[in-house]
Amino acid sequence: MEKIEHIGIAVKNLKEANVLFEKLLGVPHYKMEEVASEGVKTSFFKSGPNKVELLEATNEDSPIAKFLEKKGEGVHHIAFAVDDIVSEINRLKEEGFTVLNEIPKKGADNKLVAFLHPKGTNGVLVELCQEIKAM
Ligand code: ZN
Repeated sequence: MEKIEHIGIAVKNLKEANVLFEKLLGVPHYKMEEVASEGVKTSFFKSGPNKVELLEATNEDSPIAKFLEKKGEGVHHIAFAVDDIVSEINRLKEEGFTVLNEIPKKGADNKLVAFLHPKGTNGVLVELCQEIKAM
């Protein structure tokens, strides 16, 4: 893995959280994006070379809605940038991790993503993400 790409934070109200994080980080969010397949609306902030992703549920079945119900607002996942998500998925499977998306799916911010089950990673939901390169 190359680096931490972003930290995902589950919030109840994206509009209010945008205002709060703008105050916290001193910069406005640079993009908002809905991932309908995941039932989430996201917004992204830059903090130096790092990014913060805020996530709001758009329906009750959204993984974010379930997370908020169980744990409340807070850090939801840590995303690591990878060069080749398919070979990284295979490597981690061989290492015994439970990969939730054996076939990477399209996530926010022009990325292919896959998640590791938090049961196998000390309770941390880990996201792998690979930039989708323009052909
Ligand atoms: Zn993420």
